[in-house]
This record gives sequence, structure tokens and C-alpha cells, in this order.
Amino acid sequence: MRLNGISLPHKKGTEIAETAVMPCPEKVRISMSQHMGAPGIPLVKVGDEVKVGQKIGDCETFMTCPVHSGVSGKVTAINDMVLANGKSCKVVEIDCDGKQTVWEGITPPSVTDKESLVRAVRESGCCGMGGAGFPTHIKLNYNEEKCHIDTLVINAAECEPYITSDYREMMENSQNVIDGIKFIKNILGIEKAVVGIEDNKPKAIALFEEKLAGEDDIKVLRLKSSYPQGAEKVIAFYATGRIIMEGSLPSDHGIIVMNVSTVAFINEYIKTGMPFVSRRLTIDGDAVNHACNVRAPIGTMLKDLLAFTDTNPDGIHKIISGGPMMGIGVYDLDTPLCKTNNAFLCFKKPVSIKGIVVSQNQTHCIRCGRCIKACPLGLMPAALERAYDRGDREALNKLKINLCMNCGSCSYVCPAKRDLAEKNQLAKGFALSK
Ligand code: SF4
Ligand code: SF4
Repeated sequence: MRLNGISLPHKKGTEIAETAVMPCPEKVRISMSQHMGAPGIPLVKVGDEVKVGQKIGDCETFMTCPVHSGVSGKVTAINDMVLANGKSCKVVEIDCDGKQTVWEGITPPSVTDKESLVRAVRESGCCGMGGAGFPTHIKLNYNEEKCHIDTLVINAAECEPYITSDYREMMENSQNVIDGIKFIKNILGIEKAVVGIEDNKPKAIALFEEKLAGEDDIKVLRLKSSYPQGAEKVIAFYATGRIIMEGSLPSDHGIIVMNVSTVAFINEYIKTGMPFVSRRLTIDGDAVNHACNVRAPIGTMLKDLLAFTDTNPDGIHKIISGGPMMGIGVYDLDTPLCKTNNAFLCFKKPVSIKGIVVSQNQTHCIRCGRCIKACPLGLMPAALERAYDRGDREALNKLKINLCMNCGSCSYVCPAKRDLAEKNQLAKGFALSK
């Protein structure tokens, strides 16, 4: 059995270059909202001196993890920032002193069992680096009485065009990835691990097959290049043959899915104790002068990343945070780098948020069914659109709007250029309201 999927141009021009390291910017803006959970509350005030690795935000809500500073310097402001979803959160502004003084409290955590792993991962501020941004310690804190986890799936599909940050992690940091897999697998007592890599990354597949030769319980899974191969439910299916049913989590089916860069980060944290203070991201698109992968402190502003790539903002028509299929539009050059940002893409011409093609001249649906054939979850996007347009909440629920993961495949294939994925986002909110 195969799930539906679509073929996309890869445009991964940055895959060949080693990751550059961004010099410490003059100022950072660190958002207290770094993942899909609750935002942190600032633990610092204006005038405080902070150091690299120091915790500057946290809260006691279940679904959250702390925020740390990636720079040393002085807190100059704590403001409100409007997020892409319209909600607002606090942002801590720090004038960097350029010394990058490390906080004295940095020590490797002691991890001996699941409980101490969960505690350490929470303290590290780790959340999924593939884009979804689920706090990682919650994923690892599954109910052992209900779930027997037998497979750790490492998501190295990186199926969106342009983005190569996970690929560079695999090529530059392969031993860290493998050590991280072994560490998590051993601490949690998971029988086997599967590293899922799309077959458009033959060098990464070859490298991992070579390094894992002789490891009976960690295997490389060669995935067909097909979008959205890296969606959690999709990769879990291809790695295990199990279908993650509606309303259930991968852990209910014996699976934990972790992004490849997240696993490498956890291994590094266990060794050094340095929390999540910087990340690698891809900067690409036809408006970028020197497309590359760059490692930058969390909170680095987009304008500084563009300056690093020698890119003139005046030549940019559209900026996307994330990939062209699932990313979101960005309009403010002061937008700070967050833990979940795996890319900023800048284009000279109009580009649809949910598709590489220019989404204009929308025409009537011709009932061709291509959107249905493209949907990896077997939904009926055209019917969902009609139900939303007539305000039919009951029909939306019957058509399972709640399952839509906003992958954009339906919009991408539609010959009538209908913005189906965007409409589904609105429809989801509408169906859940009231
Ligand atoms: S955006 Fe939703 S409806 Fe469209 S293809 Fe993806 S999962 Fe299916
Ligand atoms: S792909 Fe577009 S034109 Fe074809 S059925 Fe779906 S919405 Fe209609």
C-alpha cells in the first residue's frame, strides 16, 4: 500500500556547501513563543546582564519548555510581538557585548533513565526542529503502562523544496546523530530505530549505511522522494507499516518519531549541557545573493541574516519562514529566528504561501479530482472548500477537516489554482468554533 503524495522540484542548491557560522549580531530579539506550546514568561528584566546558555524565559504550563539566551549582553527592552498566527507574546531584546561569555551554570545533565531524560530534555529547551515545534520532552514522556514503544523513527526526509538544514546536519554531524539515536534508544529501551531518508539524498544514505553497517537494530530506510514524505504520519507508516489512526499519537502505535537535527542536538546537550541557543537554517530563494546554510543564535533578526547573505531587502517581493509548501509569509525584517525556523526563503516575484507556483487567476473547480488524488490523508479538498463556502460545519466535520495537516499538496496540483490549503486552515478554525 502507498499513501498519496506529489512530486515537487527539489531546488536544493544549498546542499553542497558547509554550514557557515554567523558572527554574533549587535542585537537579538528572543521570542518567548518558540514552539507550538505555551509561551514562556520572561525571567529577566530590562538592564539585566545575561550570558550564553542562561535561562531567560519559562512557565509552569504542561506544554512548554524554557527559553535561553544565545548571546551575552544586556537586556534593553521587553516588548510585545505579534506572531504569524495573530497572537502576541513577549520578546526579550538583548544588546550583545560580542564576548559570548558562557553562563557559569552550564553542566552536562545526569541522565540514567526515562525520567531523568525527560527532565533534562525539558531543561534544554528542546522542541522539534523540523518545523512543527512540539516540545520534545512531552513526546518522550509517553505513558509506559499504555504504550510499548518498539520503534524510534528518525525523520530525515526533509521533503520540502529548498530546505537542506537537516541534510547538512547528516553530512557534517553524522556521528552526533548516530550517538543520539543510540543514547535515546538505550535509555528508553526501544528495540529498533529506523532512519528515513528520501532517495534524492544518495550521499546521506550512503554515509549512514556505511556508518550503521553491522548495527542490527538501527537501519536506514530509503524513502521515495515524494511530498509530504516527512509528515509524521506518513514517515511512521513507511517505517513500520502502521497507520496512525484519527485521534491517536504515534506512541499509541509503538512509535516515536524524532527529527534528525533534534536527535543530534539532544546528544550534544547531554555531552556539554549547552541548551538550545542556536540553530542551522537554510537561506535561499532567487532574491538571496549567497544562498547557504548558516548557524545563528536564536533571536537573530531576519535583516541580519539577509545582510550575512549579502542580500538587498529592496529586491525581495516575498519572504517565507519555512518551506514553500508549509511555511508562512513574513513581512517584518525584525522577525527573529526561532527554534522551529529551518529556513527563510526570499523571492523576487509573487509566490503562493502554500505552493511554489504563483497562485493567481483562480478559476472555477473543474472537478478533475487531482486534489483528492494528491492528499496523503485521503481527504476531499474540493468538497471541503465547498462546505466551508456554504458555512456547513456539519459537513466539514463529516469530511474530517480536523485531519488536514495543511501540507499544501491539494493547492499545488489544482489546475484551477484554487487556494484549497489556505481555505482548509480557515475551515478548521470555523469547524472547531462554537
Ligand atoms: S492541505 Fe490538507 S486537504 Fe490538502 S492535501 Fe494536505 S492534508 Fe490533504
Ligand atoms: S484539483 Fe482543483 S479543479 Fe480539480 S477537483 Fe480539486 S479543486 Fe477542483
